[in-house]
Amino acid sequence: MIPKDWDLAVDAGNFDNGYFRLDDYVKPRLEIKWEKIKFEKAPTSDKLLENFIKSMEKNLKKRKIQTKVSILEKQNTKVAEHDAVLAYVRSVQDALIVAWYCEKSERAFIAQTVFPAKEYDNQKKAFNTVIQKLMCHTSDENITWSAYGFKVKIPALYRLSNRKFTSGLSYLFFMDPKGYNIVSFGYSSMANVILKEYYSDIEEWFNELIYKKNLKKIGKFKRKKEENAQLNRQKHEARVLYLETYGFISKFKNYMVVYLWNCENLNRLYFLLTIIKGNRTKAKDLATSIMKDFQCH
Ligand SMILES: [Zn+2]
Ligand SMILES: [Zn+2]
Repeated sequence: MIPKDWDLAVDAGNFDNGYFRLDDYVKPRLEIKWEKIKFEKAPTSDKLLENFIKSMEKNLKKRKIQTKVSILEKQNTKVAEHDAVLAYVRSVQDALIVAWYCEKSERAFIAQTVFPAKEYDNQKKAFNTVIQKLMCHTSDENITWSAYGFKVKIPALYRLSNRKFTSGLSYLFFMDPKGYNIVSFGYSSMANVILKEYYSDIEEWFNELIYKKNLKKIGKFKRKKEENAQLNRQKHEARVLYLETYGFISKFKNYMVVYLWNCENLNRLYFLLTIIKGNRTKAKDLATSIMKDFQCH
């Protein structure tokens, strides 16, 4: 969907409100921001565009720049089957802006690309290609998350609740809307160094970096069972841990399944975990089904 030399530069927010920007080696190429707006208050695409232009004007004024914002061209278009408006706007730089409202996810979107006027023809072509492929909602049962070399399918009802991308450790946390159940996965690079110098094994790595920092607050987990599993897709051998919180009444307990493995191909340590409240079997089934399609390299 996106040219290979474009890279995710800024990535802030969550499912409801957020912003991301794709850069190539030289400059920002595509920015998308979205915000939650209830269906009853759904704005038209024109209104969204108008508001965005107003915010641009306000911004220029604040920076004491005299330039006006003018719309050179405007046309109706579609993004992911939604009515959208595409505008060619001139201010300090030229920009192509597309605005639409997604009633399925109840979010308003603005995508824009900024460029020097002489690049208009190329930019318009590239921008059109990108907006044809933008996805704001899904009708699938699963959403595919693909980034930084891995690819994973998560049930669509789980939403991104926490993330971290650093050179030492990267992970994503997903939660169901009630906040009872969790799916998370992530990795550390430089697996060989980590295992030699910092942690005695992959379990200790997981304990120190993920469990103690992110999961202990849910409850104290004790280990019930462990086994090895062959990851068929990747030919790695994974360590599988089954844990649960203390307690007598199973519907109040949290059940966790953790897969840990070392991907020699990318020299990364990976974890994938599921936590389901009150249902051991569901935790296991969910972890198994996600692992079936997980691609680490
Ligand atoms: Zn949509
Ligand atoms: Zn791998």
